[in-house]
Amino acid sequence: MSDIIQLLPDHVANQIAAGEVVQRPASVVKELMENAIDADATMIKLIIKDAGKTLVQVIDNGKGMSATDARLSFERHATSKIRSADDLFSLNTKGFRGEALASIAAIAHVELRSKQAEDELGTLINIEGSEIKTQEVTVTPTGTSIAVKHLFFNIPARRNFLKSNTVELRHIIDEFHRVALAHPKVAFAMYHNGSELFNLHESNYRQRVVNIFGMKTNEKLVPVEETTEVLTISGFVGKPQFAKKSRTEQFFFVNNRFIKSPYLNHAINAAFEGLIKDGNHPIYFLNLTVDPKSIDINIHPTKTEIKFDDEHTLYAILRSSVKHSLGQFNIAPVLDFDYDTNLDTPYNYKDKGPSTPTVEVDRNYNPFREERVAGKQVTAFRKQTPNNWDSLYVGLESKGTRDTQDFSQVEFESEPEKSSLFDDKSQIETTQSTYQLQNKYIISTIKSGMLMIDQNRAHQRILYEGLLKSMTVKEAVSQQLLFPLQLHFTGSELTILRQLKDDLEATGFVFSTIDEDQVEITGLPINVPDSEVAMILEQLISDVEQEVPDSHFSATDLLAKSMAKSLAIKTGQSLSNLEQEHLVNSLFACKEPSVSPTNRATFITLSIDEVDRKFM
Ligand code: ADP
Ligand code: MG
Repeated sequence: MSDIIQLLPDHVANQIAAGEVVQRPASVVKELMENAIDADATMIKLIIKDAGKTLVQVIDNGKGMSATDARLSFERHATSKIRSADDLFSLNTKGFRGEALASIAAIAHVELRSKQAEDELGTLINIEGSEIKTQEVTVTPTGTSIAVKHLFFNIPARRNFLKSNTVELRHIIDEFHRVALAHPKVAFAMYHNGSELFNLHESNYRQRVVNIFGMKTNEKLVPVEETTEVLTISGFVGKPQFAKKSRTEQFFFVNNRFIKSPYLNHAINAAFEGLIKDGNHPIYFLNLTVDPKSIDINIHPTKTEIKFDDEHTLYAILRSSVKHSLGQFNIAPVLDFDYDTNLDTPYNYKDKGPSTPTVEVDRNYNPFREERVAGKQVTAFRKQTPNNWDSLYVGLESKGTRDTQDFSQVEFESEPEKSSLFDDKSQIETTQSTYQLQNKYIISTIKSGMLMIDQNRAHQRILYEGLLKSMTVKEAVSQQLLFPLQLHFTGSELTILRQLKDDLEATGFVFSTIDEDQVEITGLPINVPDSEVAMILEQLISDVEQEVPDSHFSATDLLAKSMAKSLAIKTGQSLSNLEQEHLVNSLFACKEPSVSPTNRATFITLSIDEVDRKFM
């Protein structure tokens, strides 16, 4: 037999990669604008024709490129931003994969003009479907202009897949908002078919928010400022009475990067609990700053997801800071927008006295009451037979979930370090075979040495397999809700929900209505608390939006992954020995225990040999 494996030609590889990076015109907008930010531009202009289907152009006054760099920038994995994998951990640029321009050039006609300040003349390159058509010297201002025309000209299927101009323009504006909000010190302008949609001058954060969302927004904003060892928060939340039916004014930025985090969104909702009507969503514009080493930015280019080392703590800090700010706003005078200079004066913490800001004990409120999915099941289990752990996801009797809802759990805020789910300590003392490190890893011994398990990933694996099973076997049990849940979604979110309805029902969800005005849910999977439903569905919708599943099979899989992610024990959560042990046992009862649903290692082993060697 002759050899049959061939390397794909570059232009084919680029087209495939492009499918990941560029899903729609808005993806191009994002990549080009982020490149302009990375090039230290202070003025960025976005020009759009026909919702980006005909033209997406970004003009910046940044540092520009030399002729060689301009040519190289279209090569895959060509980047000026990282040199080694280590740099990934101290990332402060937006791009780093060196894939965007190569991908865009593979599926469009691109015209690049660029000049560096020290050069007299710049470079003009025309490239179509990865093929350089012309490269010449040209007169052009310092900075870069990249025009992307006829997107998907060589992939008709993708082009046909694009939505109406209204929808595509909406996506573009969303990306524009995200970049503009993250960089108030940079001026931005946006034009669509010749008319100006935005003209944003350099400003402070409050002005930027107001300039984008309208003058009326100013009176709605309540400043949130908090500095702790692990996290700095700054920005605004909307006063409760301005909460909206849609979630279009909810923004989290982590280290100046827009992210979606249903989990942190949940923290904000918790802070607003009791202040806004069911089905309404608070407005927020929040910037979180954390040590870049403590986050794991998903390496996938289009993802807006992020993984924090200690989500649990972030949740608590965020919730309590927002709560605190809300508590203050009615005594603080509404700032008048004319007092420009004072606009960003953070709400004054000096007046607060020396109390530690993050720890507010509210005995009536337990943020993790509903969230401890695993915990609740553990409790339920305790009433049954030890050593017969049901898996964490199935077979739970409904009395278990319901009866133990208020089971005394140590409040997170008062005793963050040992929020044991058991009040009976003697139970815990019985096993000592596992040990939890940094509320993140579980250490256990095995014959050949040592095992170190990532608690979050392991639990995701366990839940994932369970969910997949219940979806395929369709044996899910639901708990009927006494009071149906009413949720609101936007049109595009509803479309996704409808597509997933059958699968969701296979996990135990029961929908009584799904229409424009509301989604009503009358039943839930046994292990899903009502308070988590909005978060789970939101996470799911955002996962589907980002992943665009192409078959029913992949939709089911995505649903299971997404729910597993939402429900899994978080990093930062302390677990009792019994819980640890159960997690370990359940993990190894899985079909594929060694990787998380997203293919990351769930555990590592250290053999005695390796340990011995270290002692040599
Ligand atoms: P990445 O941003 O991941 O490095 P890109 O494909 O987006 O990859 O860009 C490749 C390289 O081209 C960048 O690393 C940068 O050096 C250069 N580049 C792209 N856009 C600009 C710009 N607007 N101004 C200056 N340099 C740019
Ligand atoms: Mg880039």
